[in-house]
Amino acid sequence: EVTMPRPERTRVMCVANQKGGVGKTTTTVNLAVALALHGNRVLVVDLDPQGNASTGLNVPHHTGVPDVYDCLINTVPLEEVAQEVEGIPNLWCVPATIDLAGAEIELVSVVARESRLARAIAAYPGHFDYVFIDCPPSLGLLTVNALVAAQEVLIPIQCEYYALEGLNQLINNINLVRQHLNPKLEVSTILLTMYDRRTRLADAVEQDVRNHFGDKVLQAVIPRNVRVSEAPSYGQSVMTYDPGSRGATSYFEAAQEIAERGIKEPVIRNA
Ligand code: ADP
Ligand code: MG
Repeated sequence: EVTMPRPERTRVMCVANQKGGVGKTTTTVNLAVALALHGNRVLVVDLDPQGNASTGLNVPHHTGVPDVYDCLINTVPLEEVAQEVEGIPNLWCVPATIDLAGAEIELVSVVARESRLARAIAAYPGHFDYVFIDCPPSLGLLTVNALVAAQEVLIPIQCEYYALEGLNQLINNINLVRQHLNPKLEVSTILLTMYDRRTRLADAVEQDVRNHFGDKVLQAVIPRNVRVSEAPSYGQSVMTYDPGSRGATSYFEAAQEIAERGIKEPVIRNA
């Protein structure tokens, strides 16, 4: 079994792009499973009221299940709502129920409304190598909470014509959060998703994104692959549903790059 290097400190990664359907949830689920299967302790925080990450990890998230809403609004500790993901050792998920749909409005009037998730995660230190936060397709207070809680932003970009449109808005928000709320925040990782190598367009979009974001863009590119889209209906990631598929092998490569980049950062060690 291949082992991916574990980081010295917890890496909190916010998976964000306000466009829907670009592969945020798919990326969150598959990277989390890949890292967990290879020796890392991983927490997925489902921050989308649709609960797709919870569904994809087969974690119960019907009404009444303690969820991320309870952490954000009722300050319930994270460890009371995190569930073990069945079949994947070292992987936990804080699910989202439909209650979360109200949080965007309810957060407006609570104290420290932008840093509720950051506090919840900080209150539970040292348990995880990675925390992945799956954001909703908007730039509201839920996404702001994710940006305040994270050190890194991972932006999945779908290889289609309007791929870069709207990214400015996301980058502006990231810059605002960095200036006012979370100086450590950086866009560390761009992942190209749903790549269709039969089209010249996909190639052009890839060149555009690489020119624009340089080495933040992972070498690994996720192809459009039907096994990836089938997996959630079996309550699985593609990593376990069909480990030999091109979808699974490319998510494995992406996870490995992320793990290796994490330890390349200079770390001051005591002699
Ligand atoms: P988001 O979370 O950004 O809204 P999703 O991860 O839910 O996006 O992906 C949108 C849709 O595209 C889903 O139905 C998903 O199964 C499908 N999908 C995502 N990545 C791939 C892929 N590499 N190949 C085929 N289908 C994919
Ligand atoms: Mg999603």
